[in-house]
This record gives sequence, structure tokens and C-alpha cells, in this order.
Amino acid sequence: MTDLARTKDILSELISFPTVSTDSNLDMIQHMGALLYDIGASVDIYADDSGTKANLFATIGPDRDGGILLSGHSDVVPVADQDWRSDPFQLYEADDKLYGRGTCDMKGFIAATLAMAPEFARRELSRPIHFAFTHDEETGCIGAQTLVSELKARGIKPGIAVIGEPTMMRIIEGHKGCCEYTTRFSGLEGHGSAPDRGVNAAEYAVRYVSRLLEIREELKGRAPGNSRFDPPWTTLNIGRVTGGVAHNVIVGKSEVEWEFRPVQSDDYDYVTSEITRYAETVLLPAMRAICPDASIETETIGEVTGLEPMPENEARDLVAGLTGSNDADVVAFGTEAGLFQSLGLSAVVCGPGSIDQAHKPDEYIELKQLSACLDMLKGLGRKVAA
Ligand SMILES: [Zn+2]
Repeated sequence: MTDLARTKDILSELISFPTVSTDSNLDMIQHMGALLYDIGASVDIYADDSGTKANLFATIGPDRDGGILLSGHSDVVPVADQDWRSDPFQLYEADDKLYGRGTCDMKGFIAATLAMAPEFARRELSRPIHFAFTHDEETGCIGAQTLVSELKARGIKPGIAVIGEPTMMRIIEGHKGCCEYTTRFSGLEGHGSAPDRGVNAAEYAVRYVSRLLEIREELKGRAPGNSRFDPPWTTLNIGRVTGGVAHNVIVGKSEVEWEFRPVQSDDYDYVTSEITRYAETVLLPAMRAICPDASIETETIGEVTGLEPMPENEARDLVAGLTGSNDADVVAFGTEAGLFQSLGLSAVVCGPGSIDQAHKPDEYIELKQLSACLDMLKGLGRKVAA
């Protein structure tokens, strides 16, 4: 059986697990764990607190630091309200393409790594090859966050991470982070004729938004000189502002949904500390002078760490050697790569298929993309053979 045929078979199994982020991924994780265990990998499965989600971490080769970690998320986005030509959870082949939810984002990559695992296991490897398959990437890289702290706690230090998100096998060495929040203001309702007796939550929300917009301007001046992002600075967006019932009523509750996309971790610290300081030292004291119960609370919806392009990047050099491509790019979409980078690994994103097909009905991956990915993985096996 060819490597591509094996990959197709494995992908067909993976697609049949409907691992939409809201649902359990345990069956798929156990299935992959069994495949890897059978070829002699050491396999650890870490369930989350709910017991319905898990990460898988497996290793082939010597038990030592500096390994190469191949990473993919097991969850997929929902298919509800999408019009599919075929069953999204049954692999369907036509015109040299494989259709199904998750084919490009990103079970195709995972299937390719599993198809090559027996070959890795047959070789005498000089450094370990790790498999990291996570849950809940699509809802804010939640699984990868716990996996990264698990690896830290166990003292496991891989050297390189390759995240196989769909890039058409191009090497991506940087992306912005993405941090989303909902901030809720609770004031004191009252009649519009006596504004001084109430605490108008919408007015405080507006002041909060104004400070965020000032910070947005400040961020433009903080862009690193060599930034390759477009635009080169950290952006900030106000996505939704709500509150109030009628013209003549003081607003009791108001909400602001906002996000920012840091190009460097310093900007993350800057935005969060500046806006928190403003809320706590300026807005809240003024609100509480009238109503002691007034509050400002920020809920974190998701924080995806950015991948900062680095001048020295072993992961980039390794993958460039394997794919024969010398360019490395930056992209607009977020991945788990930044989390692995924060663990001290050098990381790149490189995987089969196109992000254009991700999250859409009739999601597909081209067979030639899977072949290109298999070539890279085969090269990797040769490269780390002792
Ligand atoms: Zn993805």
C-alpha cells in the first residue's frame, strides 16, 4: 500500500469522528492513540476537567530533549447552517480532491503524520519525533494551553514545532496573536431627568472605548521597525457596543465586545495593563462614589498567542531544507504555534491544503497537497535517522 493510500484510509477514519469543538473528541483521540501505541510509540492522553476532551502526546525515538514536535488540532468547526454536497463526516473523493469537514483544517496533516509514523518507528532516530494532537483549538487554543503546561510540568523540552495548519505547504514563521474580550459595565438605573443620581453604564462604556481608541493610536508608534505584518502594528477593534432601553432612562447595564491582535508580547502586556489601570483608577472610583455596587468586569473570550518571527529559527531552517523552499511568510490567521514558541521551541506553521477551504462547506484537500506533505515527513524521517 502506498503512503498516500494509507493516508487516505486514516483520513477517512478521522473524518468520521464528528469532533466539532462543542462535542467530545475522546473517540478520535483514543483511535489515534491506539494507532501510535501499536507501532511502539509511548502515548499519553490527557483528559480535561470535564472528562469529555483530551490531548494526545506521543513520542517515537529516544527519550531526550530537542525533539521535533508535529502538532495538529483534533477539533473542527460546525457544519450547521452550511450547505454540503456530501456528508461532511464521510470522506468523499472526486477530481483528485478529498472532501469532508476537517480535511484541510487539519485532519489531513494529522493523517499524513500517522501514516508516516511506522516509518519513523522503523528507523533508529537521533532525536525524538513527538505527536501533539490537541482539543479546542477553534475556540481559543484551549487544549494547546494545557498541553504546553503539561509538557513544562513534566520537563519535556522539544526543540522544534511544526504546526500543520493549511498553508499550501508554504512556511509561515509569524502571525499576530488574537485576544478577544467582553467587558460588562454595571451602573445604577434612574430617570433621565436626574443623571447625577444614577450611574450610567453606557457613558462609562463609552469612556472605556475612548481609552481603547487612544491605546490603538499609541500602538501604531510601538510597531517593531522590521515588522512584516500588514498593518505592521498591533491592531485593536471595537466589535459590539450594547446597552440601554429608552431615551429617558439612565442605562443600568452596558457591554463592549472588543479584540486586539498583538504583533509582539510587549503589546499584549501594554494593552491589558493600560486598560485595566484606567478602569480601576479612573472609571470605577467615579462609578462607586455614587453606587458602591457598580462594577466593570472583563471576560476573556480567547487569547491566542502570536508567533513572533525570529531571526534564528531552527524549525524554519529544517522545514526549508525539507520542502526546498527558501521563503518564509507571515499570515493573518492565528494558530497554536505561538504557544509552543512561548515554551522556548522554535516553531513554524506548514501544512497541506489551503486556509481558503477551511471552515467552509465542501471543505477539501487536494491529493497532491497530501503527497507534498508526505514528502516533507519522509524527508524528516531520513533527516533525524541516526
Ligand atoms: Zn485549524
